[in-house]
Amino acid sequence: MSPTLRQQVLRKIPSVDEILSKSEMLDLLRIHPRAVVVQAVRKGLERLRREILNQEDLSSIEAALFSFENLLPRFQKEIDLQTQPKLRRVINATGIVIHTNLGRAPLHPLALKQMVEVSKAYSNLEYDLDKGERGDRYSHVEEILCRLSGAESALVVNNNAGAVLLCLNTLAEGREVVISRGELVEIGGAFRVPDVMKRSGAFLKEVGTTNRTHLKDYERAIGPETALLLKVHTSNFRVMGFTSEVSLGELVQLGSQHHIPVMEDLGSGCLIDLTQYGLEREPTVQEAIKTGVDVITISGDKLLGGPQAGIILGKKSLLDSIKTNPLTRALRIDKLTLAALESTLLLYVDEKRAMEEIPTLRMLGLDRKKLKNRGRRLLKRLQDRVDKEIQMTLRDDVSQVGGGALPLQELPTIVLSIRSLSHSMNSLEENLRRGTPPIIARISRDELILDMRTVFDDEIPLLAEGIEKALSQIKGK
Ligand SMILES: *Cc1c(COP(=O)(O)O)cnc(C)c1O
Repeated sequence: MSPTLRQQVLRKIPSVDEILSKSEMLDLLRIHPRAVVVQAVRKGLERLRREILNQEDLSSIEAALFSFENLLPRFQKEIDLQTQPKLRRVINATGIVIHTNLGRAPLHPLALKQMVEVSKAYSNLEYDLDKGERGDRYSHVEEILCRLSGAESALVVNNNAGAVLLCLNTLAEGREVVISRGELVEIGGAFRVPDVMKRSGAFLKEVGTTNRTHLKDYERAIGPETALLLKVHTSNFRVMGFTSEVSLGELVQLGSQHHIPVMEDLGSGCLIDLTQYGLEREPTVQEAIKTGVDVITISGDKLLGGPQAGIILGKKSLLDSIKTNPLTRALRIDKLTLAALESTLLLYVDEKRAMEEIPTLRMLGLDRKKLKNRGRRLLKRLQDRVDKEIQMTLRDDVSQVGGGALPLQELPTIVLSIRSLSHSMNSLEENLRRGTPPIIARISRDELILDMRTVFDDEIPLLAEGIEKALSQIKGK
């Protein structure tokens, strides 16, 4: 392509001033500040210039592209980009229930209601209503956490990584922490247990091997510098085959013989025995506490189904010293989170209700029949879109739990599969992702897959609209 031709095409792009002189722009200027509109026009024209520079075949560019009517929607879109939040709700059609990249656990309506209630006005966040004096922000959830878990004492901080940091810093700064090599895990988002430990000021004493660690390995590592025995729940993978790990119970026994506290980073934090509901075994918080472990830490927004939080449970004497660590202030939980967490925990008082209503747990429990009905409702709305070029079918598949919980659990699910011989499913995936709201699907070979498990019933109309729009975009090409 000759550069002169490209220059000629580029010259057809109107100037910012030309655009701003159009009477239609006055409407936009009435609604938005001038600086926003000017910036939007600049960006819109800049984007058009880049598109032309990237285009191989300039002969397909029509003069209409440069008409004001065709350019106007671009400016509107740029204004939206500047004035609307970048953090947005999306429709999760991946089937991954606890999707770390998509905000993990969606919250229960009562948790949302309570966040609004507590934050739109003043609250007793740090005020004791009985005594009429300064109170403690952590007190609100301590009792319910102890009641549900069986622990003597509880503390909630910003997130679980923060909880681990805080515990290690309090209990083992400048001293040694014994941990199995099989548990030096990376959780994702570059959270590596050894890195956090280093920052806590504790020294790592690794024992055993990747696949096998025995009680005697821990025992041999214990010396005058040992401050803590640490177990990390390898939540996002399993070592299979020739393996051996020391149970929490055995470790607690060893710790008490040597007067050394034992801590477990449980990760997901499950309060319900999921095997009753036909799911794989995930160690529960109550089981861990029953072993007599000194401290455990869990996430608020994994299986628990609440907001992002790090929950520390355990013996009162240790929790008391953790509470007075200045780092606690640095990692403290805010009132919105606290409100959502307390409401979520209250649902656990009735276990059956928790399973039925807490979104993460409810999604795990969805059976094939319910999922199929959801799929049918979606397909029905899309019926007139099914043609020779686009095939849509409901079929069986498997969804994942995600969020580093139940890594081996296979959840039989129903997916809407979209295929086409004449259109690219990668473009469809991209159009869905760029829609409003964005729809996150996955591609497997030449098939676009929308998993019904993580789509909410009330999202079906939006999902159908989004699919229709994305399909019309690829067909229009
Ligand atoms: C997820 C996880 C963490 C990190 O928890 P966040 O709440 O994401 O900070 C730490 N340890 C384990 C074992 C985990 O599974």
